[in-house]
Amino acid sequence: MDLFSLDKKVALVTGGNGGIGYAMAKAIGDAGADIIIAGRNKDKNNLSVDNLKNNNINAIAIEVDVNDELSCKNMVDQVINKFKKIDILVNNAGTNIRKRPEEYSLKEWTSIINTNLVSMFICSKACYKHFIKNESGKIINIGSMHSLFGAPLGSAYSASKGGVVQLTKSLANTWALNNIQVNAVLPGYIDTELTKQARLDIPGLEQRVIERTPASRWGVPDDLAGIAVFLSSKASNYITGTAIPVDGGYSING
Ligand code: NDP
Repeated sequence: MDLFSLDKKVALVTGGNGGIGYAMAKAIGDAGADIIIAGRNKDKNNLSVDNLKNNNINAIAIEVDVNDELSCKNMVDQVINKFKKIDILVNNAGTNIRKRPEEYSLKEWTSIINTNLVSMFICSKACYKHFIKNESGKIINIGSMHSLFGAPLGSAYSASKGGVVQLTKSLANTWALNNIQVNAVLPGYIDTELTKQARLDIPGLEQRVIERTPASRWGVPDDLAGIAVFLSSKASNYITGTAIPVDGGYSING
């Protein structure tokens, strides 16, 4: 028995055209699953699908704005129309606006909470009715080190990512009897478009991360590959409601 095979599984990855999302999608695809890349940007979606296909992974793209409930429901409907089922949902789409708390407009604040947290509720709810038909399901929610720590220039981001952990525990608790496992992954500092901007906005961040991280380096998106396969596979069937740091030790260094 291959504990980690995802053969015949169908996996939907929001933000699958970005750094971490694409790496997770590719890892899940390499383990055998069909992949749906979901993001707003059509060109980035198509490029990611082409790259997956070049790696012999069956993949399609769906345009979605996770801030829009109808768009999320349509996305899940399209997955079901095409593949007849869904096995794995990776709630990965995320964003940030860096400002001091008193500088946020309510619109900016709400857009971050909606993209990073409310979208997870919407997409998970839309998948739930299909998971229960299958009598199984896997949800992976992407949190952050800011699920654990506050951020002077990221209060909305930290609030959303803290909420990700509590939402994960609540869904896990409620849906465990339906054989649906819900877990959160808390990446450390990973080199992606999102953090390229952070390094421009926050002087000294690049070096501070290296100094605090016991592994003494920034992460790369492929550092998330193993956890993506593990939490998607039957190897993790008795693991639910957790929040697992993938951070080179950043969060355990006092
Ligand atoms: P990227 O900027 O590379 O990826 C972000 C992804 O989110 C893109 O694919 C983007 O696609 C998608 N996205 C953003 N807003 C929306 C929206 N409204 N609707 C649909 N898709 C959307 O950054 P990362 O790969 O770094 O980020 C991925 C996740 O990892 C985020 O949740 C982030 O918070 C989290 N994270 C990242 C860390 C890091 O160090 N990089 C650390 C901890 C957590 P498109 O533009 O096409 O919509």
